[in-house]
Amino acid sequence: MERIYLGDWLYNAGIVGFLKINSHLWKIGNGKLESTDEGLLKIGDNYIGIDRKIFEGFSKRFFDYAFKQYGRYENLLKLFDEYLNDLNSLDKEENAEKLRKRYFRNEELSFKDLKKSLPIEIHGRFKKILDGFILLKKKLGKVPSKNEIKKDKDLLVKYLEKSIKIMKTEKNNFWESDVQIYLRRIYGQKSFLNKSVNKNRFEKFYKDFEGLLLSSSIKYDRVFKCINCVERKAKKDTIFDTGISKFYGLNPDSVNFMWNFKSKLPLCDICEIIYFSYFAGLTPVRKNEKTHFYFVNSDSSVEELLKENLLLESILKRDAKENFLLEFFTELILIAETKKGRIYSSKCSSHRA
Ligand SMILES: [Zn+2]
Repeated sequence: MERIYLGDWLYNAGIVGFLKINSHLWKIGNGKLESTDEGLLKIGDNYIGIDRKIFEGFSKRFFDYAFKQYGRYENLLKLFDEYLNDLNSLDKEENAEKLRKRYFRNEELSFKDLKKSLPIEIHGRFKKILDGFILLKKKLGKVPSKNEIKKDKDLLVKYLEKSIKIMKTEKNNFWESDVQIYLRRIYGQKSFLNKSVNKNRFEKFYKDFEGLLLSSSIKYDRVFKCINCVERKAKKDTIFDTGISKFYGLNPDSVNFMWNFKSKLPLCDICEIIYFSYFAGLTPVRKNEKTHFYFVNSDSSVEELLKENLLLESILKRDAKENFLLEFFTELILIAETKKGRIYSSKCSSHRA
């Protein structure tokens, strides 16, 4: 088994991410983290142990996780559906107030004006979305103009229906493309994220990671050991941006400075994939049109680390209020206090014994 020990915060985020991507292999029962398949995953105090067979099907799980975390596809399907419903319910006056508030907030609009303005408003919003959603835009072809929509709102209805149909029938294409778009923002240009790769992204990732990790054909560096675990041999030609990325504040210059003036950073294949999984360890939150990532580091144990991040995630999912950290730390202190209480009482009983 390969052992993966807790390390710096980014690596720890990688461990949490790796566990989340492989969530079928553990459970938390009675507050305790347990492996459900000790042959593939062992959970130690300050490390996890993995058998390389854990990488079977890893690429699919990795992509699925990133796709879900990005969430754009599902959100847009939902939104387009809402647009359709709203356009279709526009003919009934009883819906006017609800629709006016949804799209025009405080603007005063008569029912007649609303019937004119709403299709144009939705058309504008939809076009803006398409500008940032190139794959769908390409597949859709020409968008009806504002004037055409003014004359006939059904054109927009048909167009939205077409979008939904394309997204559903070609989901696999959107899946590959969205994962690339999302992770490129986080990791830069590694592997399938490279700008030159615009098809077969999944296959590329599979070949670069899962395929290699499962086979024994990895080429190792003849001299260097991994600078992270200092145990396994470094993979040949591992490039610095493999996942030790923007978040880490590394750029080629500082790597040169740090590592013998070479632009390669010696990492082993296992540490590399752990670093490459750190996105899944972070909790993204959309605030003011921007995505913020949260992670709470802890190096006491793998169990604590995972549980604390699951707690943070559940609080942020509930409601990403300004004071969520206060809530998080309050809950964390409560948990710590309960635990101390338990340790204290067990100490007392051992004294008595
Ligand atoms: Zn290593």
